[in-house]
Amino acid sequence: MPGPGAYWIGEEERREILEVVDSKYWFRYGNLQDPNFKHKVYDLEQELCKQFGCGHALATTSGTASLLVSLLALGIKPGDEVIVPAYTFVASYTSIIFAGGVPVLTEIDDSLTIDPNQIEKRITPKTRAIMPVHMLGNPCDMEAITDIAKRHGLPIIEDSCQAFGATYRGKNCGTIGDIGAFSLNFFKTITSGDGGLVSTNSKDLYERAFGFHDQGHLPNRTGVEVGNRLILGLNFRMNELTGAGALAQLRKLPKLLTRLRTLKKSLKEKIADLPGIAFRKINDSEGECGTLLTVIYESAEKAKEVGERLGTGPIARSGWHVYSNMEHVGAHLKSVGQPSGFGAYPVTDDMLLRSMNISVGVVDGGLGAGFGVNINSTEEDVEAVAQKFRAAYLGK
Ligand SMILES: *Cc1c(COP(=O)(O)O)cnc(C)c1O
Repeated sequence: MPGPGAYWIGEEERREILEVVDSKYWFRYGNLQDPNFKHKVYDLEQELCKQFGCGHALATTSGTASLLVSLLALGIKPGDEVIVPAYTFVASYTSIIFAGGVPVLTEIDDSLTIDPNQIEKRITPKTRAIMPVHMLGNPCDMEAITDIAKRHGLPIIEDSCQAFGATYRGKNCGTIGDIGAFSLNFFKTITSGDGGLVSTNSKDLYERAFGFHDQGHLPNRTGVEVGNRLILGLNFRMNELTGAGALAQLRKLPKLLTRLRTLKKSLKEKIADLPGIAFRKINDSEGECGTLLTVIYESAEKAKEVGERLGTGPIARSGWHVYSNMEHVGAHLKSVGQPSGFGAYPVTDDMLLRSMNISVGVVDGGLGAGFGVNINSTEEDVEAVAQKFRAAYLGK
């Protein structure tokens, strides 16, 4: 039960991938003049820049790798604090921790993304970056966040792993801050099985991210440069097979988002008249992905009750997207003197106990979205899901 891109894997992906298979050249670097080198990873980076209007793109092995190399590119060092929401996937925290930094969790608001009004309270002399996360395809309030970042001279790293293609006021999420990270894992908007991308408009950040992702090398080498590397790096290079699949998926993104937004609108309209029903706030109703429909109930009891009738539950029960469910992260936070465990972020705790995700395109129990429709659902399917939800909501 994956993300919408996986539902649409077809002839285009097959063609791109087989081209690489047959070339027997599966490594991302090569001579662009060589007809046997299919340069899919290179094309993927170029096409992302064109589609999203960003200066530079870098393909990696995962969203987690993208976050890590982005943090390192920004110069995050041991002890540096990074502000991050209390509702996000575990990788937002672990990437900060492995960069040597300290995740400083911050309450969310009813958009289920970081509450800009809470950010300044969390800034200390050790703060070095803000990491807004565009959760569930919903863009963060980037205007307010950018304003705070500017006033405090802090860079923004956007975790866009759940928001591939989302826009905020016409700009693609991931290209608004200083650097942005995307995921291509199986549960995301588009997929190559696993994989990731980094975007930035800064040549300097791009070259640093590139170096960290490839043993300190400068971009797009054709051989091994000895004596020319200024930073230490690791290996998070994407291979050509992954690049080929991702390229075919990226080309489907506009159509896929149109379909998701239509489906979501239809489903929402069919339940919006229920007495007392409320949905999460969408910070840009034109630009969100439309991958999930989130209902916020007036009480945790009601959320639990309706969830049980539908074979699902509140977001609070959805595993590693909720800080208080991450026992290993909690232990780490405690060891560095940060609040941890249920109760540490009461506004977030309350919000997640009262919220339920209905799938539109991302059908993922791990996100609390085991109930709903998928991208291939028909209008009749949407109607049936709406009727099921109405009955459960009304207690029938
Ligand atoms: C999925 C996800 C990641 C990590 O992406 P991977 O490709 O699985 O490494 C990071 N942050 C968020 C918010 C995510 O949902």
